[in-house]
Amino acid sequence: MKHIDTALLIGAAFQAGQEADEPILNPRTGALILNVPEASTVQVDAAVAAARRAFDGWSRTSPGERAAALLRIADRVEAEADAFAALEALNCGKPINSARNDEIPAVVDCYRFFAGAVRTQHGQVAGEYLPGHTSMIRRDAIGVVASIAPWNYPLMMMAWKLGPALGGGNTVVFKPSEQTPLTALKMARILADELPEGVVNIVTGRGHTVGNYLINHPGVDMISLTGDVATGRKMLDAAAKTVKRTHLELGGKAPVIIFDDADIAEVVEGLRAFGYYNAGQDCTAACRIYASRKVYERLVADLSAAVSSITLGAEDDTANEIGPLISLRQRDRVASFVNRAREVGHIEVTTGGEVMDQGFYYRPTVIAGARQEDEIVRREVFGPVVSITPFADPDQALTWANDSDYGLASSVWTRDVGRAMSTAARLRYGCTWINTHFMLVNEMPHGGLKQSGYGKDMSSYALEDYTVVRHVMVKHG
Ligand code: NAD
Repeated sequence: MKHIDTALLIGAAFQAGQEADEPILNPRTGALILNVPEASTVQVDAAVAAARRAFDGWSRTSPGERAAALLRIADRVEAEADAFAALEALNCGKPINSARNDEIPAVVDCYRFFAGAVRTQHGQVAGEYLPGHTSMIRRDAIGVVASIAPWNYPLMMMAWKLGPALGGGNTVVFKPSEQTPLTALKMARILADELPEGVVNIVTGRGHTVGNYLINHPGVDMISLTGDVATGRKMLDAAAKTVKRTHLELGGKAPVIIFDDADIAEVVEGLRAFGYYNAGQDCTAACRIYASRKVYERLVADLSAAVSSITLGAEDDTANEIGPLISLRQRDRVASFVNRAREVGHIEVTTGGEVMDQGFYYRPTVIAGARQEDEIVRREVFGPVVSITPFADPDQALTWANDSDYGLASSVWTRDVGRAMSTAARLRYGCTWINTHFMLVNEMPHGGLKQSGYGKDMSSYALEDYTVVRHVMVKHG
């Protein structure tokens, strides 16, 4: 095995974590890749102190200087794209093609986007709103950001957090998921080369130990989390103590409304891709389908056939379309959702629904006949499982789609532009796609409503979230 970085980055120093080892497993096989020791509280204190020391200098650099650093980081990731993709694939079980061709280019583009965006920020014009006084607006950095990332897209979530935080002039203490720290620890080398000491610090460890200590730290000004709703609540509790800012990207349960005039072949192709990408471990996954009764039977039959052809677990990884789930725990959680759904009389599992006898794989699954009140329709599964519910009345479909604690992503499939637009206008989700799903671009915001959290990733809106508006008034007359 090639060398794998396991050191934390604290200021300019690379150090081994001082607490217990966390085993990092290969999800394809369940075998141990290596152990990564957790940071101690003393090390978290040192990371926060390093970020505080770096803040004054970094926040006063020009947007042009920060943009140049982000561009260098992007170039370095691009130059090592194969190595990053291989490491992400090893740690997360992702097919190498997904990591290499989908995720790494999106990561590189994210740093480049924020390099450009930070140089084009505009505000209200300065003016004399009180005679003899000129007012102007500044947009300044917030301070030290504690960034806490999940396991589903480790390197991409790091880019989504570091791009706007650094572009905005903040310094960061970053904690990757305890299950997937490897690409973040490889990034530490690049970040240490390309940024002044202490601008980014990386600590490893579990949520309830290192994460909890970090978010409660009085030296932290803002908490940014991508994770579970329950974890988001803990962030809010911690933030209340010293009134920290929060940026929360939490779970999702994306509704997909399919009207009777939709192109069903396109719908099937779309759902086969967007319902199962990353083995469904995606908060925007197209997992909660409402299909017009007129197309329901055909959709169930065609989607079930299409889904049974998804390739996974093949020895030649370039043939794989999806990988295993991240852990045995996650696989068992997904299996238990499907097993409970099977016990409901009106539900039929039309394809999939089994674990495989290697690693943490679960077969892509279609669940037909689900009703709005069923657990499989209401709760986030975060696995390769899509439910289909028939509807007779379009208003009912819209009501069901909005009847969810989550509010991240949604889609509408129809050939009728008016119907698409009026439905999109009434959906209570951070994003609505029409005749597609899942497509993200760095120029456009990503973020939720309701219990999916608040704050935007990607886009110039993220830069706003990671900066603060200030008013400066000059008396002159
Ligand atoms: P998680 O909430 O368990 O963990 C996320 C991160 O929070 C990890 O780094 C973890 O160590 C840390 N954490 C957990 N408890 C903590 C605590 N008490 N204090 C501080 N840190 C703590 O989520 P996960 O299982 O890693 O990821 C899956 C979840 O993330 C899903 O619910 C999914 O929907 C959500 N997600 C959301 C988005 C989005 O953009 N909205 C994107 C990806 C994943």
